[in-house]
Order: sequence, then structure tokens, then C-alpha cells
Amino acid sequence: MKLYEYEGKDLFEKYGVPVPRRVLIESVEDVDRAIEIVGLPAVVKAQVLVGGRGRAGGIKVAKSVDEAKHVVEEIRSRGVRGVRPRKFLLEEFVDIERELYLSITVDRSARKYIVLASSEGGIEIEEIARERPETIVKVFIDPLEGLQPHHVRYVERGLVSRGIDGSTARMVAELVPKLFRLMMDLDAELVEINPLAKTRDGRVLALDSKIIIDDNALYRHPDLAKVLEEDPRDFTPLEIVARRYGFSFVELDGDVAVIANGAGLTMATMDMVAEFGGKPACFLDIGGGANRDRVREALKIVLTLPRVKTVIVNIFGGITRCDEVARGVVEALQSVSSTKPIVVRMVGTNEEEGRRILESVGIQVFSDDLEAVKKAVELARGGG
Ligand code: GDP
Ligand code: MN
Repeated sequence: MKLYEYEGKDLFEKYGVPVPRRVLIESVEDVDRAIEIVGLPAVVKAQVLVGGRGRAGGIKVAKSVDEAKHVVEEIRSRGVRGVRPRKFLLEEFVDIERELYLSITVDRSARKYIVLASSEGGIEIEEIARERPETIVKVFIDPLEGLQPHHVRYVERGLVSRGIDGSTARMVAELVPKLFRLMMDLDAELVEINPLAKTRDGRVLALDSKIIIDDNALYRHPDLAKVLEEDPRDFTPLEIVARRYGFSFVELDGDVAVIANGAGLTMATMDMVAEFGGKPACFLDIGGGANRDRVREALKIVLTLPRVKTVIVNIFGGITRCDEVARGVVEALQSVSSTKPIVVRMVGTNEEEGRRILESVGIQVFSDDLEAVKKAVELARGGG
């Protein structure tokens, strides 16, 4: 789960990381009140979950209340990289002397946390790593050992040796334990401040925030899970529908929709699609013991995807009954007007009955999944 800049900054504040004065607004009517608090000039920042808002015109400095209102309207109607912001942060204008970078994330191959600090900031860390790798200080934190004072000193010394003055380097290093605590408390995968500004009046301020929470830990954060429920930010509209039914569903960019029961079989089916030169349009695991309702809803979801040309349904019937699957397929066809070919492979419980039901509506049923997938890929190519 990605957090918006304003959500991240509220957390920063709670954990003692300095942030600019700011007001979150939803409409231009709130601009007057916000400017009273943050002053002029003010920075207008669109709250969208795409990076590089600065370059994409999602961040503007306004010198008057009218200009701020105009900027809000303008960004709202234009959008930022295809996303229409609903909320804006109005912030005090900060006089930046230098932009730095600080983050903590998980290094999966090292199985450790890693702190990254750089004397250069404001551009993406990937770019810093490519262009100026020597500016980055890295320190690993063993999850069992936790953050130790020597990690903090290492960051401080690293920044000093990269040309940052002592007092700034100390202020930056002192943020590390705060970010680390935030990360532990929220089960975050990433906590990033970019840019971390050194201001002309000698402060260090988090001008931006990027926080990603581990989705597998959301059950430990019911408040965040509720926020996500109300604003399912990381998912496509169809993925939201699919979540409601408890499907594991991921949209991909091919044209052969893959529906199967069990994550392993679904993955294997995608591999087979690729093996025959096709491209999966999605991954949809209907789960174990699926009844006709679930099969029907799964098919309705994939048939709504415009890029889908064919559907391969791959069912290994155990607890899942093939006749129920067949009835679900027929019901889906009755409720949506789609002429997209559906190829079914099913074996197992009540296979004969399932086959009879499908063949009576003209759907080809295979027992061999390689043959079935091959057929689906051919049909997607316009052959078969
Ligand atoms: P991002 O482009 O989505 O990462 O958005 P950021 O919040 O990082 O802002 C992008 C850039 O806008 C920063 O690197 C700054 O240069 C600039 N910026 C943001 N807030 C302020 C501010 O308060 N004062 C000044 N002078 N520049 C700002
Ligand atoms: Mn940024």
C-alpha cells in the first residue's frame, strides 16, 4: 500500500521528522484559509501516487492567493501523468540551499534493511545511483540486531566525507532512528525522503515523503486497511471488483485471459500461454472449491477487459466440481454479450457432466491442458 505525500508527512511529524507547515485541501474554497496558515509564496502540490510530479507539472509555486487558486484548478483539470488529483497540499515555501536524500528500504538479497543517504537529492535514487553513485552512503541493518548507534555514526561520517557540513550531516543522521522506528511500527517496505532539504536558515526538512506499507502486514494495521478500503489506490477498477470476490487477480498486458483454480495451476497456465507464443491478459485464481457463482463472476471480470481475445479456463476438479464450473461458464455467457472464444480444460470430479453442459452450448472442452492452451493462443491470433 502506497501512502500519499500528506499521509507520509503526518507520520513524519508524529515520529519527529521535521516537515514544512502545510494544509491539505480538497477544493479551491479552502485556499484562502490554507494560505493564512502557510503564508506566501506557497507551494501547491498535487496528491497523486505517481513519481516525478515536479517534472510533470504537479507542483507549482504560487505568489498570491489568486494564483494558488488558479494553479489548483489548472492542475486538477489537466491531471498529473493521467491521474486527476482530488487533494492538494499547500505548503510554506522553503528556501532550499541544498537537496539531499535519505531512505530505508529492504534489501531482499542481503535479507537486511538498508539505509541510503546521499549528498544529492531531488532526483530519483535510481538516477543518482546511475549518474553519481559515489555520493551515496549505504549501511545495512541486520533485522535481528536492529538499528545501532554505529549505523547512525556511519551515515553522519559518510555525508561529511561527501562534502556535507558537520551540523547538517548530524541532523540528517539523527533522522535515521526516527525513520527506522516508523518503518518497524508500520511494517513499511520503504520510507523515503527525497528531497531532504537543507534550508538557508540552517534547518533540515522533509520536503517530500514516500512510504510503502507491506500489504501482507496490513492485518496488523486495521486503521490503514480501512483507509485502503475507502480509497483502493494501488489497484485497477477491475482488481478492486476481483478483491471483493476474494480472487487473486492481476491485470497484465497480453490478450489471453487465464482463469484457473489454485495459484500454482494459474501460474503454470500462464507459462503454457507463453510457451505457445501467446501473452497472458491476466492472472485470475478463483481459489479452491469454487462454485458456479465464483466462476461466473471471474469470467465476467475478464470478459470486460477490452484487450482480451480469448479465455482459457483451466480447472483441476477435486473439491471443485466440473459441473458447477460448467454451469458458471454458461451463466456468464448468458449475462454478458460476448463473442470472445472460451476454451475450457477440466478434469476430475463430475468431469463428464461438466463436459456435457459445455458442449451443449458449443464450448470446446479439453482434458489435456497443453492442447487447450495451444487452442486458446491460436484463437487469439485469429487462427484455429
Ligand atoms: P516529486 O517530483 O513527486 O518527487 O515531488 P517533490 O515533493 O519531491 O517536489 C519536487 C521538487 O519541487 C523538489 O525537488 C523541490 O525542488 C521542489 N519543491 C518542493 N517543495 C518545495 C518548497 O517548499 N520550496 C522550494 N523552493 N522547492 C520545492
Ligand atoms: Mn520527491
